[in-house]
Amino acid sequence: MGKKKRGKTDRYTVESSMSTYRIRSWGNGYFHILPNGNLAVQPSGEAGGSIDVLEVLEKLKEEGYRTPVLLRFPQLLEAQLHSLVEAFSAARREFDYPEPYLPAFPVKVNQQSPVVQGLLNYGRKHGLGLEAGSGAELLGAIGLDTSPESLLICNGYKDSDYLDSAAMAARLGRNVIVVVEKPFEVDQILDAADRWSKVPGIGLRIKLQARGSGLWEKSSGFTSKFGLTTLQLLQEIKRIGEAGLGENIRLLHFHIGSQITQIRKIKTAVREAARVYAKLRQAGVGIRYMDVGGGLGIDYDGSRTSADGSVNYGIQEYANDIVFGIREVCEQEKVACPIIVSESGRMLTGYHSILVTDVRGSLSGTDTETVRLEQDPPKVIHDLRETEQGINIKNYREYYHDGLEYRDQMYSLFDHGMLDLEDKADGETLFWSIADKAMAYARRARFMPEEFADLETRLRRKYICNLSVFQSLPDHFALDQLFPVVPVHRLDEEPTVQASLVDITCDSDGEVDKFIDLREIKDSLEVHELVPGKPYYIGFLLVGAYQDTMGCHHNLFGRVHEAEVLLDEDGTTQLRNQRRGHAARDTLRIFGHDDEELAAGVERVVSAMEGRGDLGGGERERILADYRQRLGRYTYLGESVRDRS
Ligand SMILES: *Cc1c(COP(=O)(O)O)cnc(C)c1O
Repeated sequence: MGKKKRGKTDRYTVESSMSTYRIRSWGNGYFHILPNGNLAVQPSGEAGGSIDVLEVLEKLKEEGYRTPVLLRFPQLLEAQLHSLVEAFSAARREFDYPEPYLPAFPVKVNQQSPVVQGLLNYGRKHGLGLEAGSGAELLGAIGLDTSPESLLICNGYKDSDYLDSAAMAARLGRNVIVVVEKPFEVDQILDAADRWSKVPGIGLRIKLQARGSGLWEKSSGFTSKFGLTTLQLLQEIKRIGEAGLGENIRLLHFHIGSQITQIRKIKTAVREAARVYAKLRQAGVGIRYMDVGGGLGIDYDGSRTSADGSVNYGIQEYANDIVFGIREVCEQEKVACPIIVSESGRMLTGYHSILVTDVRGSLSGTDTETVRLEQDPPKVIHDLRETEQGINIKNYREYYHDGLEYRDQMYSLFDHGMLDLEDKADGETLFWSIADKAMAYARRARFMPEEFADLETRLRRKYICNLSVFQSLPDHFALDQLFPVVPVHRLDEEPTVQASLVDITCDSDGEVDKFIDLREIKDSLEVHELVPGKPYYIGFLLVGAYQDTMGCHHNLFGRVHEAEVLLDEDGTTQLRNQRRGHAARDTLRIFGHDDEELAAGVERVVSAMEGRGDLGGGERERILADYRQRLGRYTYLGESVRDRS
């Protein structure tokens, strides 16, 4: 159980926490720990200044935003986009690639306005385009200010409304490309083309033989629900040409899934697609863009392997393999190189946000209160007490087994009516104390016997976190995706507790009990002993991709408070765009419960009570006002959301 043992003289420092939580491995240089023990974000790496996360929480608390809160760091969006663009520039220089590279942000990965705006603000000068996967996403994209050469790519299944919106975007001068996912979409385009004043560009999504890897593997390969087979590709190009729209075919697209863990999969896919591109060019189809989709992964566990939560490549290798692969095939086939487009979403957004929550207490099998010292307890309680007092490092296995036996005896005596409730309470307390002590000795042994390994799992503490996994970490419960989890303060203190984290929903799946570790997944996290009366904050990191958009309202827990956090030029932390999370009335409304009607329901009850003389003076108004006020509060544990007015 590779526990690191330190001699008495080794002091626990923030450096120790850097390695306990493996921050350097997964942090991409963006996170570190300040000398005061607080987690910090450094948007421009070690050279630049730091944002003290605890300080941000305290400022927000003063403004009435309590945890749970989602902190967005727009500068991390910029930094990631910068690395992506730089990687492709370097690759194009190295392999003498004659055509440009254009990034497009797939908005489904995070449609939040601060995220899309944040990316566009910085990305406009790099020709950052947008990729929409639905009619609504397209309508959003049309209203955003992008650069003229940037692409607006329309993916997903389309109806005539979606296509008409694309035509409107084309009319407005946008470089819009409707990607054909299925042959029936060609019928729709051909039917509608006459009524459009401007026909959008047409892209073709192909199904590749090559498949992705990892948790999202299904979205690729021959059986994927998207894309054209080779036969369909040829047929559709012919039909489009016959309708006189051949000139509009501009882009070839593939997407082999998200979080591709192995670079080999990307290389194979790129070459296969480049070959299709080259053959179509040779056949006279004027494709200009080669869109390699998404899939560029994030090393969530910092292992640099092809494990699900990792990637065995870096951004530069990714860009090199794409640029080199396409160039080589085009050279062999003697066709002009395409403009390269990629639709990275996870890589751009994953790092930019941290969800911070407070721990509300802990659960454990051994909440050992003191036991009554009765003079003459029943024999079984007496035996348990003797065992509890006599257990030591030499006899702990034997004494633990004795404890198990006495406990069973105790339950059987209770079932037969021979013990009272107080005896049972004492017996249970003593037994768990024996288990706790035995466990402590077992941990010191060189090899932990199996029964103690199981016991450790049962005895493990659970920290109750003020959040809903279903709302804020949907991929953790749906896909077992792991995110780095780190306390945001006290990191100069040794974390002496091993705990899993449970949320406040009434659902046993609302638990985070898998954590990243070097080679395996561990089932508990190093945390600090809770100090009564003092808050303890835990951060879930790298939650910027997908988690923002897919959460559900289990138990009516709603969206959490948010704020953007920036470091300005003189190194001070700025907060902006603070946004309140849902209040109870907001989540009730989502499910069709009108809060005015609910209040009217309460009013009917108090009126009836008043009629019967059951209410004191002024109580009716107080109850009604109180109910209304409560509907306006944050859905999480804590104080009320202060009135906006
Ligand atoms: C989801 C999706 C993406 C984004 O993939 P990431 O792995 O997050 O970069 C890109 N393109 C298409 C077509 C998608 O469906």
